[in-house]
Amino acid sequence: MRALVIGEVNASGMKPTSASLVSAALKAAGSVDLLLLGQAPKAQEAAKVLSGVEKVFVNPDSGENILTESLSKAVVALVKEQGYSHVFFEASSMGKSVMPRVAALLDVAPLSDVTAVLDAQTYVRPIFAGSIDVTLKDEEPVVVASVRATAFDPCGNDGNAEIVVNKPFPETMKTRKVSFEAVKTDRPALQSARIVVAGGRGLEDEEGFKKLAQLADRLGAAIGATRAVVDMGLCPNDWQVGQTGKIIAPDLYIAIGISGAMQHIAGIKDAKVVVAINNDPEAAIFEVADYGLVMDAKAGIEALLKELSN
Ligand SMILES: Cc1cc2nc3c(=O)[nH]c(=O)nc-3n(C[C@H](O)[C@H](O)[C@H](O)COP(=O)(O)OP(=O)(O)OC[C@H]3O[C@@H](n4cnc5c(N)ncnc54)[C@H](O)[C@@H]3O)c2cc1C
Repeated sequence: MRALVIGEVNASGMKPTSASLVSAALKAAGSVDLLLLGQAPKAQEAAKVLSGVEKVFVNPDSGENILTESLSKAVVALVKEQGYSHVFFEASSMGKSVMPRVAALLDVAPLSDVTAVLDAQTYVRPIFAGSIDVTLKDEEPVVVASVRATAFDPCGNDGNAEIVVNKPFPETMKTRKVSFEAVKTDRPALQSARIVVAGGRGLEDEEGFKKLAQLADRLGAAIGATRAVVDMGLCPNDWQVGQTGKIIAPDLYIAIGISGAMQHIAGIKDAKVVVAINNDPEAAIFEVADYGLVMDAKAGIEALLKELSN
């Protein structure tokens, strides 16, 4: 059995989640290679030392120029050429877009949101917004899956993979990149941040979110949000946490003015410590919180900021 892991990069290098994907792949296959997407500082060096990885395929194209359609074709070509039995993507925006296309081109059923690998064919994934975990067998000739990186510990860093320069990605006839705008922020990335402070409708307005940003910056935290406030236009949609947003597993999650709807909770199930501030003592968020403050959201942030400045 041979697995191909698709490793994403961001502005600062290889995404740390790639190491978790390698851990998942090693549970399914005896041999693991990695296709590194795009160029980033030190990404190749970081990929080369991932424990258990035999080959790292690097690409002449830069990450921001890679189109979903051409990437799908390139992955399929590599799978056919190398005879992989498994292809693992991260359950990220990119993975969610490319993984089903690769499965369709290989004529196999895709497997999404894997949270545990029991053996080469047996996987666990959540259904019904995370209320139930289902164990299933994937008997396709190639297992094409997206993996929740937060569910796996990263592999070690004592490997020495061979670096192989891959062919340029194929041109696509119907799609071309017009522009690319990277979101620039000094805050940690939401999916890998150790601390996340998140706001919901209880923060009420822009002023509430300004206060939330102050708290995030004071704690070195990323900012998350509910779908309700994203829909209200109070924050960008890449802050959304939950079933249809990002799935996160920070050490500390501070939920402020958030009711705790099941679709939101689906995104924070693996958070280690949950703190909630809400003025309704009956709010569902208190059922999953380790610590709760029944008080006004903005006043709660002020109190925390005061405490942190002492
Ligand atoms: C298919 C589907 C997918 C969805 N996916 C997602 C998803 O990915 N992520 C997501 O978040 N939601 C998602 N939702 C929406 C979800 O069901 C909830 O509507 C949403 O999470 C509620 O957001 P909220 O907690 O900000 O707002 P509300 O539910 O309105 O809660 C606001 C909370 O703030 C409290 N509050 C009000 N005023 C104050 C105050 N002054 N001080 C303190 N507390 C106050 C209230 O007591 C209340 O508990 C989805 C829904 C559907 C149907």
